[in-house]
Amino acid sequence: MTTAAIIVAAGRGTRVGGDIQKQWRPLAGRRVADWTIDRFQGQVDHIVLVLSEGDQSAWSEFERTNLILAAGGSDRAASVRNGLDALADLEIEHVLIHDVARPCVTTDLIQCVLSALNDSPAAAPGLAVTDALWTGDGHFVSGTQDRTGLFAAQTPQGFHYGAIVSAHAAHPGGAADDVEAARAAGLDVAIVPGDADNLKITRPEDFARAERIMGTNMNVRLGNGYDVHRFGDGDHVILCGVKVPHDRGLQGHSDADVGMHAVTDAIYGALAQGDIGQHFPPSDPQWKGAASEIFLRHAVELAETMGYSISNVDCTLVCEYPKIGPHASAMRAEMARIMGLRADQVSVKATTSERLGFTGRSEGIASLATACLVKS
Ligand code: MG
Repeated sequence: MTTAAIIVAAGRGTRVGGDIQKQWRPLAGRRVADWTIDRFQGQVDHIVLVLSEGDQSAWSEFERTNLILAAGGSDRAASVRNGLDALADLEIEHVLIHDVARPCVTTDLIQCVLSALNDSPAAAPGLAVTDALWTGDGHFVSGTQDRTGLFAAQTPQGFHYGAIVSAHAAHPGGAADDVEAARAAGLDVAIVPGDADNLKITRPEDFARAERIMGTNMNVRLGNGYDVHRFGDGDHVILCGVKVPHDRGLQGHSDADVGMHAVTDAIYGALAQGDIGQHFPPSDPQWKGAASEIFLRHAVELAETMGYSISNVDCTLVCEYPKIGPHASAMRAEMARIMGLRADQVSVKATTSERLGFTGRSEGIASLATACLVKS
């Protein structure tokens, strides 16, 4: 079963106020869109992000990620059609369509919509309306409305891929959401229970409410890692993925990248999933001389599989020589590339040990790392 999610982020979001569109505004330390994208990472096989064509900085930022990018259209339905087109060659069976302005969506709700698609060509979360409903002119109540059988519609809305492609192609336009287009094509849409916390950020005060929800739901895990490798013969060392010329090399079973090993162990530690030695036993000859990137990628993929995204990592290298400062930004960029993070989520710094101890005597290099993981 191949699944995908389309996150529609091409809207102007003018109601929220300010110059910045709401998907790029900060929310609990990140941007709205970052939270929303993270919620779907590891939950589906492919994620399409639909961006406004004029949003150059977003295009260049996200083209380096694992997301598929599609250009927004003249209205929401056109944006969704472009997102569906971007999946045309991937043999998608089930697709979720989600509004970027709902960053509090839970993995439980995503999975609930996906499972409902096993029994129905379309499924979407709805919240039964419990408040009394009035009609009014803004000043006075002019009448009451029966709420029986009324639901507030949410996203992600899920569909069998071929069915929603045809439904959108046949729709004359003006549909409020994808469920409306699906129903117009005769598809049955199953209602799964919505989530009151899955709010759509629409008004300025919604940011504070979303932060409160995230604060109560946030599942944060920390891990630490520590590693040492001894100096031996050689003319370079590999530190945090970067080759640094030196009059000695580091000894080890793999490429002896002490910094990358500490970060990898910090991620395993945060997940309570052991350490590198457990996943890649040094007794196994296939890891001899291996690039440590293999270990780090494994830890990152394990985090994704377990539903966590890496919020940041911080790595400290302890040595007198080589000097790390001139290479630190290349190390951050390389570590970020391997982990699929932005460079501002990765810190690499260094200290000496004041010529004390084994690092002070230049017998080897030590490294410490911390990783912070957040449940998506
Ligand atoms: Mg090591």
